Amino acid sequence: MSLIDTHCHLNLQAFDEDRAEMLMRAHQVGVTHVVVPGITAASWAQQRDCAKRYANWFNAFGLHPYFIDQHQDGDIDLLAQQLHQGGAIAVGEIGLDATCADMPRQRKLLHAQLELAVEFQLPVILHHRKTLDELLKCTREHGVERAVVHAFSGSEQQALAWADAGYYLGVGGVITYPRAQKTRRAIASAPLHALVLETDSPDMPTCGKQGQRNEPAYMTRVFDALCEIRQEPPHVLRAALHANTCALFGLS
Ligand SMILES: [Zn+2]
Repeated sequence: MSLIDTHCHLNLQAFDEDRAEMLMRAHQVGVTHVVVPGITAASWAQQRDCAKRYANWFNAFGLHPYFIDQHQDGDIDLLAQQLHQGGAIAVGEIGLDATCADMPRQRKLLHAQLELAVEFQLPVILHHRKTLDELLKCTREHGVERAVVHAFSGSEQQALAWADAGYYLGVGGVITYPRAQKTRRAIASAPLHALVLETDSPDMPTCGKQGQRNEPAYMTRVFDALCEIRQEPPHVLRAALHANTCALFGLS
């Protein structure tokens, strides 16, 4: 069963020199599909081009809260048009980042994008920083049926709350660090049906690769770390991750 990188920013300039080779390296180690979330309206065209060029490249489109300064008021209408055109498997990356400016405007954009996800019956890819509980509340209140909280780094209780709501936890390179005990404990005890894997490439390098560009091929290191902290055997984990990812994004 192949692995799917559910969150990587492969359209970024960091991959301009070797995008095809980088995808080949991932394929060779069994990471066969990638999900690329949008960041700003300006990035969507480039994402569409990449999906045409590379097989097994899936796009999400959205307005990332970290780039709040770059979003225009009309971008929500552009997003609606973009979703109408098709080619999106999710709305994202959207969310709330408490370390960034202008929370009122971040909330406004989040709510508008959650509404679009419901309207287009798409899942959402959520970015959080010190905002896990508020995000869960908003996502539920909008009636969003499918959601993944990317780079989950909360407590065991928060993991359970998201899983109980029927949502997914994005598990990334954090669990490869022995000192990340809180996140490792939360992921070790979370319901298996709620877990999906991601790299967040080019960011979030795995342990031992600090300071280097991350890429989807290194997701095998996240999988190995998951095998260490979970009770289930690797083949059970692999099959569950695949099934979870397909259910989240409506892939077959
Ligand atoms: Zn991201």
